[in-house]
Amino acid sequence: TTVSLPNGKDYYNVWCIFTKVASNSPMRRKFEIFVESLLKLSSVDIAFHVITDDDSKNVAEKLLGNILSSTGKFMKVQYYDVHELALQLADIVSVMSPHFSSKPGTYYSDALFFLSLGLHRIAPAEQSVAAMFDADTKFRRDIRKLFDEFNTFGSQALFGLSPELTPVYRHVLYLYRNKHPDTLFGEPASSGGYPGYNSGVVLFNLDKLRNSSVYDAIVKKEKVDAMTEKYHFKGHLGDQDFYTLLGMEKPELIHTIDCGWNRQLCTWWRDRGYADVFGNYSKCDSETKLWHGNCNTPIPDD
Ligand code: UDP
Ligand code: MN
Repeated sequence: TTVSLPNGKDYYNVWCIFTKVASNSPMRRKFEIFVESLLKLSSVDIAFHVITDDDSKNVAEKLLGNILSSTGKFMKVQYYDVHELALQLADIVSVMSPHFSSKPGTYYSDALFFLSLGLHRIAPAEQSVAAMFDADTKFRRDIRKLFDEFNTFGSQALFGLSPELTPVYRHVLYLYRNKHPDTLFGEPASSGGYPGYNSGVVLFNLDKLRNSSVYDAIVKKEKVDAMTEKYHFKGHLGDQDFYTLLGMEKPELIHTIDCGWNRQLCTWWRDRGYADVFGNYSKCDSETKLWHGNCNTPIPDD
């Protein structure tokens, strides 16, 4: 069979971070569900790129071996050492961490949450597009359909992300919103607003990213410091905080994907003073094509 990717390549590049499984044993089961659902529903050839550490790599190899034999499917698998990648992207991490990390950790536990912002520097040059997924996700539809989104990217779009489905950025932008009562930033998408992005699923136009001087400039300290100051923005959700700001400053760089491709299940903010508005944010009318069991929320069986 032949596969027609937007870039004319044969493999669909899928990236996932799988680390610290010893200290986070529920992660094993999540990862298993993610990979199994990905493979079972996929009609295309997948190259799976796992960012991992030594212990987690051993676990991943066993898990993947079992899944490949039980599903009878095949995929190409490649491992990348999280410590090496953290070093390669130390510049980006040091710019982002002060603004978008809850608590400064070791150099690499921080890096983990910002790797996607430099994926174009990590991914082998033959990859022209790719997708990255959280391990706490589960497919309900063929990944081929998600990659179709690349065909509707605007001419300048570098990334594709789905909206954040909680009021977290309403909260984070509290001060800015007080000073700008008419702003749509932090408002739910269901009423035409901008709720920010969730990074559980990210599409990358890697070729464009590698050649983007605009992107190079905007991940520099001066620009990131200025952006966070302008919006009085202090986040704690890593890369997605940056994507959210990028979508405010340069919306043309991000293609918004249908919410059904990242149907988040976390209800933490509902019970933290946002019960009245939570439903406006979590509303996603399109069919669920991928569940995201964020903040450790169980994923429905279907
Ligand atoms: N992750 C990991 N090990 C960890 C924590 C996170 O490999 O100890 C990876 C994993 O792919 C996970 C992603 O980082 O899905 C983001 O973390 P998580 O999904 O727990 O965050 P949430 O979606 O709940 O905000
Ligand atoms: Mn997640």
